[in-house]
Amino acid sequence: MKILVLVKQVPDTWGERSLDSVTGALIRTTGEQVIDEIDERALEVALQYKDATNAEVVAVTMGPARAIDVLRKSLAMGADSGIHLVDDSLAGSDLGWTARALAGVIALDGFDLVIAGNESTDGRGGVIPAMIAEHLGVPNATFLDTVTIAPNSVAGERATDYGTVDVSASLPAVISITERSAEPRFPSFRGILGAKKKPVKTISLSDLQLDSEPSRSLVHSTSKRPPHSAGTKVIDAGDAGMQLAKFLADNRLI
Ligand SMILES: Cc1cc2nc3c(=O)[nH]c(=O)nc-3n(C[C@H](O)[C@H](O)[C@H](O)COP(=O)(O)OP(=O)(O)OC[C@H]3O[C@@H](n4cnc5c(N)ncnc54)[C@H](O)[C@@H]3O)c2cc1C
Repeated sequence: MKILVLVKQVPDTWGERSLDSVTGALIRTTGEQVIDEIDERALEVALQYKDATNAEVVAVTMGPARAIDVLRKSLAMGADSGIHLVDDSLAGSDLGWTARALAGVIALDGFDLVIAGNESTDGRGGVIPAMIAEHLGVPNATFLDTVTIAPNSVAGERATDYGTVDVSASLPAVISITERSAEPRFPSFRGILGAKKKPVKTISLSDLQLDSEPSRSLVHSTSKRPPHSAGTKVIDAGDAGMQLAKFLADNRLI
């Protein structure tokens, strides 16, 4: 079985993140850029199946030259190879074009199963996996908390507000996983050394022979979130309970 895992390079969630006030795009040239944590979990789901069956696992990313670092990390964790879609004209692609381009790479390489995160920590679109499945014309099972992969199918549980839904799809398929799915492994020293010898294919947009041009939705304006206010301090002079209850009632929280 061939499993493609989508891994995106994102600004470190713990660092300061800001938008370019002119283009509205996220500033990606400062601060640490890391593999998205949700995609590490997607990779772990694939690697656990590989550990049990010897499936082939390929990490795929679309991003600038430095995005190769997320492939190296994926290879160190255990992926067999990587594919890097890199092309200057892809800078600032919107969700629609990102999905189109990634679907082009996936179709070119061939796959039985594609595993993605449910939502990236920077763009937070939460729709790329569904869009890719639509482009590829295959079933899509989204937001899976658990994943069971079989030779011809994939199944899992999705939590809803009212309970749990069991879903399944025949392969080939695209799935997206949640942060409940799997705890990612740390790359071993051997894995880090071995990663240097594993193949990484670089693909440009022209290799995909897509019949349309990159699309971009324009951000017209951005504004900073207002700073947090100091909040209300309750000092207990014997009536803290009453004060708290009044605060909650005044703010319609009870
Ligand atoms: C500040 C900012 C502004 C934006 N403005 C717009 C806008 O106005 N209009 C618009 O359409 N889009 C916009 N985007 C989205 C962005 O340009 C891309 O569409 C983005 O790369 C993919 O969207 P996402 O990460 O939100 O996808 P999601 O659907 O949240 O990603 C889900 C999963 O898809 C996979 N994936 C996503 N991108 C990649 C990738 N590049 N390589 C490998 N795997 C990937 C990962 O597994 C990820 O976990 C904006 C993003 C930012 C950060």
